[in-house]
Amino acid sequence: MKIAADREICIGAGMCVLTAPAVFDQDDDGIVELLVEDVPPGEADAARQAVALCPSGALRALDD
Ligand code: SF4
Repeated sequence: MKIAADREICIGAGMCVLTAPAVFDQDDDGIVELLVEDVPPGEADAARQAVALCPSGALRALDD
């Protein structure tokens, strides 16, 4: 699975980093950065949870 992050929409809440720290990071302004494009199978559940928890709707899971 892949993840898409819209940095224009992200409000820097940081839920994604707390939920899936192997997939998401934040830049100096708190805006989401992707650490990986292809989410490893072991991180998929955490990444999906981060998509669900993101308060701004900036994240999307793209299934293969
Ligand atoms: S949870 Fe959503 S709004 Fe918060 S940093 Fe991550 S992408 Fe941005």
